[in-house]
Amino acid sequence: MTEAPLVASYGVTEPGAGSDVAGLSTSAVKKSDGSWVLNGQKMWITNSGHANWFFVLARTDANANTGKAFTGFIVDADTPGITVGRKEINMGQRASDTRGVTFEDVVIPAENVLGSEGQGFKIAMNAFDITRPLVASGAVGLARRAMEEATRYALERKTMGKPIFNHQAVSFMLADMAIGIESARMMVYRSAFMRDNGEKNTWHASIAKALAGDVANKCAADAVQIFGGNGFNTEYPVEKLMRDAKIFQIYEGTAQIQRLIISRGLADAAKSGADALGGF
Ligand SMILES: Cc1cc2nc3c(=O)[nH]c(=O)nc-3n(C[C@H](O)[C@H](O)[C@H](O)COP(=O)(O)OP(=O)(O)OC[C@H]3O[C@@H](n4cnc5c(N)ncnc54)[C@H](O)[C@@H]3O)c2cc1C
Repeated sequence: MTEAPLVASYGVTEPGAGSDVAGLSTSAVKKSDGSWVLNGQKMWITNSGHANWFFVLARTDANANTGKAFTGFIVDADTPGITVGRKEINMGQRASDTRGVTFEDVVIPAENVLGSEGQGFKIAMNAFDITRPLVASGAVGLARRAMEEATRYALERKTMGKPIFNHQAVSFMLADMAIGIESARMMVYRSAFMRDNGEKNTWHASIAKALAGDVANKCAADAVQIFGGNGFNTEYPVEKLMRDAKIFQIYEGTAQIQRLIISRGLADAAKSGADALGGF
């Protein structure tokens, strides 16, 4: 893969189903020879303009419950019947390639079923245990850049005869950025450490993702504030950071969906008598 880099996209979201993954309508029907025919439309698929492969979640049993109704497929991007849409023009993270993808009678060989039939929902959800700490680490990186840019600027920019850093209202904003960044970083490390050590980290990964997404947005918005009028201008880096930050509260499960997972974890722990914090 390093010699001929291959790109794979994660194709779950649809125009009518994002947070409500169980509501997706892309379907795959098994043929007598064991191959599958895939039909449906995916939306917001990152890197789909460059993908060699798609992971596609499709409904394969109309009558089964959510845990068994879906199957995950590895779909070769060169298969006839796949149409990749135009690159979407997004608020931020514009270097990222995001598109809709349509599948029309796409034939998938039997061996391209990921795991086994009916296990797709679990596979798609389990992926978040790995990706949420990583996405959260990206949010921490953005927040850190915002803090560093704002600190440098605050030390240089003078008002009322002194650097704005020396106005406590400004330096306390920077201190709050550091508090948020260090806290979010620790949650990234904790959730990733748990995964690396074979512990179930779903709950902690959601905390890391929710916290880091919120911290990135607060830090970027406060950095714009510290830059004043310059912060609102494209000549300075922080307006871009503010635009780039927003998506961290939306993709990979929105800020609300993370809180749904976190609060459900609390209820489960309370009912079973377990320690929600995992011994911390
Ligand atoms: C730039 C970008 C890249 C993306 N990349 C990918 C990708 O590679 N692969 C992929 O599959 N998807 C991708 N997505 C899709 C992304 O994961 C979804 O946009 C996201 O999950 C939200 O779904 P939605 O847009 O349908 O919003 P909706 O689900 O319609 O939600 C709308 C609002 O309602 C809230 N809401 C919904 N349900 C509840 C609830 N039960 N309780 C409380 N609040 C709720 C949400 O939090 C949100 O605020 C990407 C999206 C973007 C914008």
